[in-house]
Amino acid sequence: MSHARRVVIIGAGLSGLIAARDLAFHGFDVTVLDKGRGVGGRLATRRVGSPATAVFDHGAQFFTVRSPEFARDVDEWTRAGVVREWCRGFGDDDGHARYVGVDGMASIAKHLARELDVRTNTLVFAIRRGGSSPWDVVLDDATVLPAQAVVVTCPLPQTYSLLVSAELEIPPALLTADYDRTLALLAVLDRPATIGRHGGWQNPNATFSWIGDNYAKGVSVVPAVTFHASPQWSLDHWDDDNAHAHAALKLAAADFLANCSIVTSEFKRWRFATPTSIWPEPCHVVTIDSMQGPGVIALAGDAFAGPKVEGAALSGAAAAERVRAELAAH
Ligand SMILES: Cc1cc2nc3c(=O)[nH]c(=O)nc-3n(C[C@H](O)[C@H](O)[C@H](O)COP(=O)(O)OP(=O)(O)OC[C@H]3O[C@@H](n4cnc5c(N)ncnc54)[C@H](O)[C@@H]3O)c2cc1C
Repeated sequence: MSHARRVVIIGAGLSGLIAARDLAFHGFDVTVLDKGRGVGGRLATRRVGSPATAVFDHGAQFFTVRSPEFARDVDEWTRAGVVREWCRGFGDDDGHARYVGVDGMASIAKHLARELDVRTNTLVFAIRRGGSSPWDVVLDDATVLPAQAVVVTCPLPQTYSLLVSAELEIPPALLTADYDRTLALLAVLDRPATIGRHGGWQNPNATFSWIGDNYAKGVSVVPAVTFHASPQWSLDHWDDDNAHAHAALKLAAADFLANCSIVTSEFKRWRFATPTSIWPEPCHVVTIDSMQGPGVIALAGDAFAGPKVEGAALSGAAAAERVRAELAAH
């Protein structure tokens, strides 16, 4: 059976979904795989409590737009009612719009995933040379998905482990890239808090580098605040057990909650929150000649085009364009 024009995308975060939409639009047979329960990756929105449900953005909190290419995406999402402007800064207005997902940041991913073949709860175990196609994508239940091209958008240390049996030469510096960690506290409150201007507070040198009021932001009807510990605090406390780190974050959070109390809270860990260095290309592509024709592997994600939402989007778009170009050239 021919698997020409079949592309497997690993990761249903922003980078993978942008790549998937582009390739599906250009007639490729695209399947997106993600180990998570839902789509979005670090565009993560969590609901806590019942019947009154507090809503938290617990990964990315907002995004900015610098490039005309990403501005086109954001215009489309705005017209579709998926994103809106939150504010123009949390201290003095600096003129740059901060955008948010109307129903939380994960709603952007849900919007992109519609009409795509996306399989969640699906852990990719390895990518190896294939028998009936250039690549076999092997799942943890031993299912094999043949593909002519694979776009890998996991954080790079996770990408590395998937490629061990792919027999590829990948620059070592790329595969040893590191990421800052984030320990997070999601706190449901008994009444609205007063957090910074517009509900956002930033300070890279404090215990918390970010505090985001999901109620003031308009994504939660129940008072709900996301606290992100700084990279240094998160590193220092990474090996603490969950109960200890959770208690320490609650204690530190109390300083920001003078007029209200925490009703319930959750503690979260992001091991691969933010890449500490950015690769100088928007994606990295390797093409092989195989008995089954050309095979392409494209590595993409926010470690390539910038450590933020916009970088992830631009990298996904660049990877899709390169996959199309490589396959057209062979
Ligand atoms: C705490 C935090 C706060 C942030 N704040 C902001 C912010 O305010 N503004 C901003 O612009 N950016 C922010 N970011 C960064 C932003 O979220 C990321 O840059 C962007 O979402 C990355 O998208 P991505 O597609 O590259 O990666 P991801 O979203 O990480 O997607 C990768 C996907 O791959 C999947 N995956 C990994 N391994 C496998 C496997 N073996 N099999 C199957 N699936 C796999 C994962 O489940 C994941 O869904 C923040 C990130 C964090 C964590």
